[in-house]
Amino acid sequence: MIPPGETIGILGGGQLGRMLAKAAAQLGYRVHVYAPEADSVAAEVCAQFTCAHWDDAKALSAFAADCAVVTYEFENVPIGPLKALGKTLLHPNARALEVAQDRLNEKEFVEALGGRTAPYMAIDTREDLDAALVRLGSPGILKTRREGYDGKGQWRIAFDHEADGIALPDQALIYEGLVTFDAEFSVILARGEDGTTVFWDSAENVHDGGILARSTVPAAAAVREQVGEARALAQKVVDALDYVGVAAFEFFATDAGPIFNEMAPRVHNSGHWTIEGAVTSQFENHIRAICGLPLGDTRLAAAKVEMRNVIGDAAEDWAAVLADPANHLHLYGKAAARPGRKMGHVTRLTF
Ligand code: AMP
Repeated sequence: MIPPGETIGILGGGQLGRMLAKAAAQLGYRVHVYAPEADSVAAEVCAQFTCAHWDDAKALSAFAADCAVVTYEFENVPIGPLKALGKTLLHPNARALEVAQDRLNEKEFVEALGGRTAPYMAIDTREDLDAALVRLGSPGILKTRREGYDGKGQWRIAFDHEADGIALPDQALIYEGLVTFDAEFSVILARGEDGTTVFWDSAENVHDGGILARSTVPAAAAVREQVGEARALAQKVVDALDYVGVAAFEFFATDAGPIFNEMAPRVHNSGHWTIEGAVTSQFENHIRAICGLPLGDTRLAAAKVEMRNVIGDAAEDWAAVLADPANHLHLYGKAAARPGRKMGHVTRLTF
């Protein structure tokens, strides 16, 4: 066990790091954030900040020397440079990062464990895309295998000829058939070093333009019926990876049962509701898991919990939001609002 008072290192400096740092501080840990961008909203709430590139081995090893355990809030951390962490504990491990960083790897990994995915094909050339359109047809979605998030690096193809107009980026891609779903939901779990695993209630998620807009718990019956099967798959994945920490799995609820979309080897936006809506939040349980502490109770703290994201630069009257005692406002302190940028979230509890 890593006792309170020790230092936890977080790779990545965004809002997930900020909320992890707050949970760590509550338990008495120091947090050291490592991120390449100077304007880190996580660094604002932590004890120490190293601003350096991912491939700066000297900076990474100095950072590791200061930390009892290192975790990440950003799954696109390049794996090669992590060697510079030396013997410092990394939770979740590099294998989890490797699987989850690449949409093709992650689908193959999950399928090998018996999970269902959207039909897909790897795309490296225009000929591959033509072949995929013949085999899988349209509509579908072309996605970059790596580094896509919040709908970035994705092209919807409604009819075959639409693909002709897309200038393929010089990157490995994947083409997925469009899944017809009743709802989207996520399975979020925390797994400890001894394999003990706890799950939060599954939120029903609504996306807008590829970006999460709202998560609601309890989910509709169509989702609740599929949560058991989805959890069983998620458990197999984290056991196979010998995973330690919080992981999130996104699913489509369909007539054919749950279809796995993607996993995140980290705390997840669709779990932000757990800060007020569950007895123990995803952030606290991630810190507990990586420090070898017992995992906290994941039960609901209200009858209904709704989380909505605050996205882009739409003006909102925060005083009015705060005046309603059912609302809990979280603003991430980002200086510049851009279209599609996650600026904060509001969680609303109903008792
Ligand atoms: P992703 O980045 O893969 O999570 O995609 C973002 C969102 O786009 C998902 O949450 C879905 O709403 C939608 N989406 C992505 N892939 C598919 C698919 N194969 N079929 C239907 N909807 C999809």
